[in-house]
Amino acid sequence: MAAITMKNIVKKYGDGFPAVNDVSIDVADGEFVILVGPSGCGKSTLLRMIVGLEDITSGDMVIGDKRVNDLAPRERNLAMVFQNYALYPHLSVYENIAFPLRLAGASNDEVDKKVREASKTLELDEHLERKPANLSGGQRQRVAMGRAIVREADAFLFDEPLSNLDAKLRGQMRTEISRLQKKLGITTVYVTHDQTEAMTLGDRVAVLKRGVLQQLASPRELYDNPGNLFVAGFIGSPPMNFLPAEVDGTTVKLPFGSVQIPADKAEKVAGKGLLIAGIRPENFEDASVIEAKDEASTFTAKVEVVEWLGNETYAYIPFEAPPEVEEQLRQLERDLDGESLRTQLVVALDGTSRIKEGEEAQIWIDSRKMHLFDPATGENLT
Ligand code: ATP
Repeated sequence: MAAITMKNIVKKYGDGFPAVNDVSIDVADGEFVILVGPSGCGKSTLLRMIVGLEDITSGDMVIGDKRVNDLAPRERNLAMVFQNYALYPHLSVYENIAFPLRLAGASNDEVDKKVREASKTLELDEHLERKPANLSGGQRQRVAMGRAIVREADAFLFDEPLSNLDAKLRGQMRTEISRLQKKLGITTVYVTHDQTEAMTLGDRVAVLKRGVLQQLASPRELYDNPGNLFVAGFIGSPPMNFLPAEVDGTTVKLPFGSVQIPADKAEKVAGKGLLIAGIRPENFEDASVIEAKDEASTFTAKVEVVEWLGNETYAYIPFEAPPEVEEQLRQLERDLDGESLRTQLVVALDGTSRIKEGEEAQIWIDSRKMHLFDPATGENLT
């Protein structure tokens, strides 16, 4: 196993906009790092540069203590696990796992020892004679990983391995990959466009936008302290609400009314004028069912649509963004592939809420959890 260090990595195709722009990420030995971002953000290109399938325009790619920029893929000792698992349909599980060893000219004894060891770890030992067609999706994934294990690769690299599966299987496979990665303790880099996958799998998550690293942090840190508007909007479902906010002392004026924020937050944004407030849907409550909430952080608004999901109720409240922040929010929507952030507030309430469509509701905001962003730079000021 080995650490992977990406230092100021740039990739330019032709003379266009860089697909990967000065990205530095260090993946510790045994760590599970996710590369995530919308289509075209450069995550696959970055992964392909780690494996050696793509030339690096500038920067250093270091695996263990070796700079690998000029090494061919097979000299890097990494194992790529593909979306379709790339198994040979006519070979048994045993021979599929044995394949790289046979290719390297290993003796029958060595092949047998390694295949049996790996298949025991992967709980495939009872299926060694089966063909891939007779395996579940999860078992196929494990065979693909078995092949990587017997090679004693320094790291696993996954490129959207679950994107062809239905939602239920995807959930199961996620748990499986996470469990195996922990058990094997092997350095892993995993590419996905799905923020749920990123949040549930990784020790740390690297969020990319248009080739630029936006934030590299643990899932919890990304969720609780997003560094900018893009990360805030990308991580979390339903997404964070963004509202125009005028700050005066500890008072924040929102389209629905004013709320108080803690003094330490207020200090950080003193004199900044019009900002964008970010509030997650779950940071609201139905003030009529929650007692002892301060009135200073409660507003009244007309609810347009209510969705009752059993354990949760979503209430949608329309608003209009003023022209000063309209353009920034429009750009953010484009960056996030069209999520509508400008025109409605999404409030996630407890399933017991009796809130009704078309009626006025009393909504309480947990303003301690409110983020305030600079509308020009997108930076999270709080
Ligand atoms: P997706 O999830 O859609 O695969 P991605 O985040 O993995 O997207 P990349 O495939 O890394 O993105 O592409 C990053 C950028 O580089 C995109 O703008 C893409 O059009 C461009 N690009 C990728 N491969 C090439 C190529 N061979 N020649 C020219 N441009 C390329």
